[in-house]
Amino acid sequence: MVQTISARQALTADGWRENVTVAIDASGAISAIADGTAEADHQAGILLPALSNVHSHSFQRAMAGLAEKRGDNAHDDFWTWREVMYRFLELLTPDDVEAIAAQVQMEMLEAGYAAQAEFHYLHHAPGGQRYDRIDELSARHIETARQTGIGYTHLPVLYMQGGLDGRALEGGQLRFGCDIHRFEELFAAIRSGWAGCPTDFTLGVAPHSLRAVSRSGLDAAIALAPDGPIQIHAAEQVGEVREVQEALGARPIEWLLANMPIDERWCFIHATQMEPAECDALAKSKAVAGLCPITEANLGDGIFDAARFLGAGGRIGIGSDSNVRIALSEELRMLEVSQRLRDKRRVVLTSDGVRSNGRNLYEKAAAGGAQAIGRNAGRIEVGALADLTALDDSHQTLAALSGDTILDSWIFAYDDSLVSDVWSAGRHTVSDGRHPQHDQISERFKNTMIRLRNAL
Ligand SMILES: [Zn+2]
Repeated sequence: MVQTISARQALTADGWRENVTVAIDASGAISAIADGTAEADHQAGILLPALSNVHSHSFQRAMAGLAEKRGDNAHDDFWTWREVMYRFLELLTPDDVEAIAAQVQMEMLEAGYAAQAEFHYLHHAPGGQRYDRIDELSARHIETARQTGIGYTHLPVLYMQGGLDGRALEGGQLRFGCDIHRFEELFAAIRSGWAGCPTDFTLGVAPHSLRAVSRSGLDAAIALAPDGPIQIHAAEQVGEVREVQEALGARPIEWLLANMPIDERWCFIHATQMEPAECDALAKSKAVAGLCPITEANLGDGIFDAARFLGAGGRIGIGSDSNVRIALSEELRMLEVSQRLRDKRRVVLTSDGVRSNGRNLYEKAAAGGAQAIGRNAGRIEVGALADLTALDDSHQTLAALSGDTILDSWIFAYDDSLVSDVWSAGRHTVSDGRHPQHDQISERFKNTMIRLRNAL
């Protein structure tokens, strides 16, 4: 037994329990959950299973707020945002990437996430030049995760072409680009260093989207990680659905379900544009829908039909994607209120057994998120990783509350400053609401931002 955490209330796999002590063993897993709170190493008010953040492009945190002016296009949309991103990409150095990744991981931890999956597609130098070490930028992310202590899943992305017609990449996209052989070399380089990583780190793979990979590329990418998690962007934008439909004769989700071996290892990011039949079929597939409500709202993607999807037994995880804001409770709130605004009703996303909106969303995102990033976590149970988030029960928002109302109040009535502590596979990564390297990471990030903003 390495350490113990006592809590006045804890949301365990068996429901809420009062005055319990959770023991964590040397591997970072929960080894016991006992009644009583005597003499624990740490005291928590409210202890929750921590969420995993299923989808992030860390470098985009640096352009947050810089793409909110309307361009020449009267209907400014996703594609003009992407133009700003490409200009930004000309500037980023490996040191910048590292400084931004550290800030992102720290913000995620302080928001209450214990783990992150990085959908990593910034592989090369400007113009597509390879770095001396082909996995230079992957290595920066992985090393940063070791430093911050976040639970980490690395998803190297195969990005081959500019569209389904096979057109070549250009401009900022060249930094993403790999043909299959270059990608296999990159993947092998990442895997060769994997043995030195903490045991809770996971390596998966991510074919970027049906737009950006060929059919043979899709098969080759999946073959590289036969046991790891698989992610793909699917059905985010109406324009993308149309392009896939014209080229492949089916909508993206429909095509993937019909042509790929979809199972628990898969996570479809966004899945915003689905017909009801696709929604029901995806729910039955056991794959996770990786939802990024803040980014999807910011980019004007549309509203995911979570009411139908969860009603059909679908599994969800939450990601912060563009990282325009990193805010766990706000992601869940945005997901629910988008349904309310569309359907003109309240308290939409509940289930038969759980009438609390906050608890239903939180537990589904905890379980689905862990599944999506290949992590044995998302529940407080013996044998699961000790990915734990503690909330401050002395705060006026939570004082005198118990059980499910705690989650309803955090998600709908306050923000992530209620997070007091986070453990990632037992690593104590946040205490008193702060990461231990908060000041150094923030200062480095600020200096990086000053240089980049002056150069844009
Ligand atoms: Zn994305």
